[in-house]
Amino acid sequence: MENTDTIVAQATPAGRGGVGIIRVSGPLAANVCSVVTGQTLTPRQAYYLPFVDAHNNVIDEGIALFFKGPNSFTGEDVLELQGHGGPVIMDMLLECILQLTGVRLARPGEFSEQAFLNDKLDLTQAEAIADLIDANSRQAAKSALQSLQGAFSQQVNSLSDLIVHLRMYVEAAIDFPEEEIDFLSDGKVAKDLDNIRATLHTLTNSAQQGTLLREGLQVVIAGKPNAGKSSLLNQLAGKESAIVTDIAGTTRDVLKEHISINGVPLHIIDTAGLRDSEDKVEQIGIQRAWDAIKQADHLLFVVDASTTDVDDPFDIWPEFMQSLPEAMPVSVIRNKIDKSGETAGETTVSTAHGAYPIVRLSSLTQQGVDCLREHLTRVLGLSAATEGQFIARRRHLDALKQASTHLQTGYDQLHDAMAGELLAEELRLAHQALCEITGEFTSDDLLGKIFSSFCIGK
Ligand code: GDP
Repeated sequence: MENTDTIVAQATPAGRGGVGIIRVSGPLAANVCSVVTGQTLTPRQAYYLPFVDAHNNVIDEGIALFFKGPNSFTGEDVLELQGHGGPVIMDMLLECILQLTGVRLARPGEFSEQAFLNDKLDLTQAEAIADLIDANSRQAAKSALQSLQGAFSQQVNSLSDLIVHLRMYVEAAIDFPEEEIDFLSDGKVAKDLDNIRATLHTLTNSAQQGTLLREGLQVVIAGKPNAGKSSLLNQLAGKESAIVTDIAGTTRDVLKEHISINGVPLHIIDTAGLRDSEDKVEQIGIQRAWDAIKQADHLLFVVDASTTDVDDPFDIWPEFMQSLPEAMPVSVIRNKIDKSGETAGETTVSTAHGAYPIVRLSSLTQQGVDCLREHLTRVLGLSAATEGQFIARRRHLDALKQASTHLQTGYDQLHDAMAGELLAEELRLAHQALCEITGEFTSDDLLGKIFSSFCIGK
């Protein structure tokens, strides 16, 4: 579908800055250029010029760059105007460009969407642009760049190729029914299918790490009031964020701190002092805390080591523990060892309710806090990302899982029934699931959803 719109948006963030960039893309970009700069520019050459409105009033002066399609980010004609980054100047420039017939404001992500539609990028690469901009750790940024450079797409494409080849081989067998059984039982099909499944498995593991890098994990810090939850959160975050006082129930709302261990973002949720309360505001805080706890990946149960020898969270706070989702992994943190005289470190304790890892530390003196970081690295599977790790999203994981399910069904058809046609169909469906990742088969709805989450001007 040919795009006839010319779109414009500010590519730099709103607010004041040294430079502000307005980007124009579409068939009228050259016209916009001649109106604003009064000149026809040689593509890919920087010009220092006054920017004028339709009445020849100078709005600003700056650098203009023209890219002739298809050799541009979007694949269309693109104009970039680099002016002074003040909101009034940027608004005036935008306004004068928008007065030209046929030019409209770009939707969020529309430049990237256009690049995707013009085959300048596949969908994972376009998503990687947003992930690079949104990255909240160096590792996440590095991995987003890997995806942008095609590391993820290449692996998906080569797996797709293997599946297509095998499908062609199986379909050839179906065309010669008298030979079908021999064909399917000669070992090649089974071997290729095993190889494909193993490759998919490795790719899925890598995508899982990539999703962790992008989304991080939710870790809840819970415990009785005054156990030292806020103090521990401050230690992990490395700054004072929660209000630390010795009045029980000070922490009224769910607070999130973002830290990173091995480059993986951890969203640490400090919960309101969970206790019965008549206070309406506190009740809201308590409800939010429960919502966060139920969705968390891990719970750190903080115990005040200076006031209790009991380690089992069920003995300390039975009604809380009984309300937890059953599969929630729990680590017990014995805090305030500076007062209790215990030694920092990690052990395991067996209780009537199962075995728990216990980390002994002091949020005050910081003894044992590193030990907790190591503990989290291990229990949350935050292995240091390897070179070449790409970033991934939940939708990619879902597609990989779908492909895996089809390959499993195909495997069953082959081994249980020697059913070539059914195997070929499952291979087709597995291939289709992979194509959804790179955007070869993607519904308009999904595209709309993906690109609308981008920022404007990207
Ligand atoms: P929360 O209610 O569980 O969030 O507890 P806070 O973090 O607000 O801490 C309650 C009190 O215990 C504060 O006075 C803290 O300074 C103190 N506290 C926290 N951690 C430690 C620790 O490791 N050692 C000592 N001695 N005091 C601590």
